[in-house]
Amino acid sequence: HPRLRLFDLPLDVIDLQGTLDLLGGWLIDPARTPHTVVTLNPEIIVQSRSHPEFAGAVQDADLVTADGVGIVYAARQLRGEDVPRAPGFDIVKGLMEQHGAELRVFFLGAKPGVAEAAAHNAAREYGVTVAGIHHGYFGPEEDRRVAELVAQSGATLLLTAMGAGRQEVFNQEWRGVLNVPVMIGCGGVIDVLAG
Ligand code: UDP
Repeated sequence: HPRLRLFDLPLDVIDLQGTLDLLGGWLIDPARTPHTVVTLNPEIIVQSRSHPEFAGAVQDADLVTADGVGIVYAARQLRGEDVPRAPGFDIVKGLMEQHGAELRVFFLGAKPGVAEAAAHNAAREYGVTVAGIHHGYFGPEEDRRVAELVAQSGATLLLTAMGAGRQEVFNQEWRGVLNVPVMIGCGGVIDVLAG
């Protein structure tokens, strides 16, 4: 798939099905090569302007999809390109539907208790295996401890929902320790899954 630049950040021209196919390949790769996915939204773009480390995390991501119509509209106006949407929630739901129990999911983020509810619902609805759970309210001094917790869980999919920017930086910075084949920064997705 082609890659554009939008506000100095990369944006991949890939639709939901293309994204699910690509991630599906990464999930079953026996080498467990870590990959990061950013679902780009206007908030991340705005934050990237004042936080170079946010911009760097998007820059280095393996896949950057258009999360919503704001990005689709900007790409059309500024680049003359039609970029399909591949929203974070649809990607997560699609992966869970397609892979079921083979998917070992770590739910990282949201307020204490919320990731537990999300994990419970995802296990019931899609049959996914819950690899681990941790809330998203900890400081940088705890990053390593949490990254090691994720690594020990043997997760194949890491959902990181700790606010735009912070979640992308965490995945990118700790990818080598996390050792998860598919890591997605996915904003409110844990809240939505929790219902
Ligand atoms: N969140 C978190 N830790 C934080 C800030 C936010 O886990 O330090 C969670 C929050 O509970 C919610 C998700 O991240 O589940 C998205 O939060 P919010 O909408 O405030 O962030 P945004 O993506 O809009 O920056």
